Amino acid sequence: MPDQLIGSLVSTIIHFNSCSITVSIWSILIASILFGILLSGNYFFFNKFREARMRTHSQDCLKARKLYIRREKSTQRNEGQRKKSITLSSKWTRTISNSPKSTRKVESEVLSIAGLSTQLDEIVSVMASGSPLQERNLEERIDRPMTEEEFMLSMKKVIEFITDNYRNPEKFPVSPETRPNDIFNQLPQKAPENPEKFDLVWNDFHEIIMRGCIQWQHPRFHAFFPCGRSYPDILAETLISSLGTVGITWAANPAITELDASMVNWLGRALGIPETFLFRGLDTCQSEGGGWLADTASDAIFCAIMAARHCKVEEELSKMSELEEDENMTASNRHTSKKHDRRAEIISKLVAYGSFEHHSSFEKACKMACVCCHPVEVYEDDDWGMRREVVEEAMEEDVKRGLIPFYLHIALGTTSTASSDHLAELTPMKEKYGVWIHVDAAYAGSAWVVEKYRNNAGIEHADSININLHKFFLTSASVTPFWTRHQKKYKDFFRVDPAYLKKKNGGNDLRNWGVQLTRRFKALKVYMLLRVYGINGMRAYVERMIGMTEYMESLLIKLPNIRKFGQTNYGLFCVQYHEEGMSEEQVNATTSHLCEFINNSHKMFFTHSNVRGHDIIRVAVTLERSTKKDVEKSVDLFSQLVDEFKKKKADDGNFLKTESSSSSIDSLVNEEYTVIDDPSHSVAV
Ligand code: PLP
Repeated sequence: MPDQLIGSLVSTIIHFNSCSITVSIWSILIASILFGILLSGNYFFFNKFREARMRTHSQDCLKARKLYIRREKSTQRNEGQRKKSITLSSKWTRTISNSPKSTRKVESEVLSIAGLSTQLDEIVSVMASGSPLQERNLEERIDRPMTEEEFMLSMKKVIEFITDNYRNPEKFPVSPETRPNDIFNQLPQKAPENPEKFDLVWNDFHEIIMRGCIQWQHPRFHAFFPCGRSYPDILAETLISSLGTVGITWAANPAITELDASMVNWLGRALGIPETFLFRGLDTCQSEGGGWLADTASDAIFCAIMAARHCKVEEELSKMSELEEDENMTASNRHTSKKHDRRAEIISKLVAYGSFEHHSSFEKACKMACVCCHPVEVYEDDDWGMRREVVEEAMEEDVKRGLIPFYLHIALGTTSTASSDHLAELTPMKEKYGVWIHVDAAYAGSAWVVEKYRNNAGIEHADSININLHKFFLTSASVTPFWTRHQKKYKDFFRVDPAYLKKKNGGNDLRNWGVQLTRRFKALKVYMLLRVYGINGMRAYVERMIGMTEYMESLLIKLPNIRKFGQTNYGLFCVQYHEEGMSEEQVNATTSHLCEFINNSHKMFFTHSNVRGHDIIRVAVTLERSTKKDVEKSVDLFSQLVDEFKKKKADDGNFLKTESSSSSIDSLVNEEYTVIDDPSHSVAV
């Protein structure tokens, strides 16, 4: 029993001991965790406190710096001298670094935190002061026509002007009452000898130049197309000018070249261009697809025609093995070779096909390429789009005459009515006649960012494509992406390699993509726009513009004497003026006069055009942020002007006899085109 007692006592003691050990281990653990939390919390709060203190300190420091500069300036003014804020600011920094060590440490920390805001503050304070800058004598101004401060103040004016125009788009009349030569005659006959102050230039910009500007960004501007304007584009343009760099070659500026290629792919994917047209790498051997950002659609079309001409000539020459050129031939004696003679002969037989409704840039490109241009007929029933039978018939006829079809121009979105050629049924012409198919989607292509507007079936069979971003893609003129599936063949034609441009090129020298060598940093505009808007922002814009145009159409065609002409395509519709019993001739003349009458009122602006003998007024909503109210205001004004026009028409018996105005695209109209053998006279006869 005592043994048992002792045993149980010992076990209790052991148990108690192990319990107390466990308890004490736990207490130590808990205590250290609490201590840790306390420490880190302290550290956290300490840091927060320190940050807050620094922030306050940095603000105090900036305030102090401002006060210091202001005080110094007034002292100097009293002493009859003036120093720039920037000089004063470095004097302030020097004062700080001469202060005792302890203060200096804090101050330098504060200054480094405030570094950026200090610079910004400097700019803002110079801008905000609005005070006249220090007068500089002529010698100083010749030496340095504009200082940083002068630039900042001038830029402030420019920024205010831009944002004010955005906020008040009706500030200037939509079109000025300018007569030909008005602006030319107001300008001096030669540039000033000596530097002029920006204020004077700015004044003349308002007084002379703005008075001669048509306001494309006015809610009553319904002409041409929505010319791109957007804040990111303006920012990019400013940066492009400030960088002062050009992309002659990859080595001259890799960023220009590589951003260009990247944007060709970004845009391609955003607009649903098939992958075969895109870069897979920057070396030609990595992908046959690729492209560049050309300036204008006219450039792009000319390049496509030249590349197509080159491919066809090479193809024809390759059929004649006996004409192999001597390896040692140089540029200077090549013109005496048989091959050269044969090349000239082939070129004289080449024919490019398009329609009467195609943009004049097609005709011009044919002229420049010295090839025959054969426009074919289009019909109202096809919404003025080119059809296969007519093209095939034209090609057949020409082949029988010994000519060689080499290029087919297809428009998706024509200039007058934004109509589309029937691409899918035209692509078999490629195989049958060996033609290069170029798709000119200058205006409509931007709308492809919204999938439901991609009526481009068959596009994968095209050889090249161009779109104008400066039409319907919020980019100011001029940016035109160009894509091809035949990068190598295309670039072979444009490649010339002088020693000074030959060095390492990173695989894609832009100079080999067209005529020009010097290139602006256009890709930066696309990059900034696509990032700031995102593809969804662009989609919303396109949808909104098309929606507004459709709303305008619904109201406008309800007006008496106004009838719709053709279909509404991609945010563009056309109207004519008509009265009961009017002949087509009278409808044409009155429509053309109505357009002129409205434009002469300087209250609204429209484009007149002529589609295969029909005079029309084209209507587009162009201002990016147009509202339903804007549209209603336009329709009311249009209605009033039509009433005034009718009154004038009734008063003026001779009214319809005056000569009708014509737009540039009218040059194609009513002219008989024939294909003739002399390439220098390839167009209208
Ligand atoms: N193609 C079409 C269908 C057009 O509408 C235009 C211009 O209006 C062009 C080409 C020419 O464009 P750019 O001014 O960029 O040369």
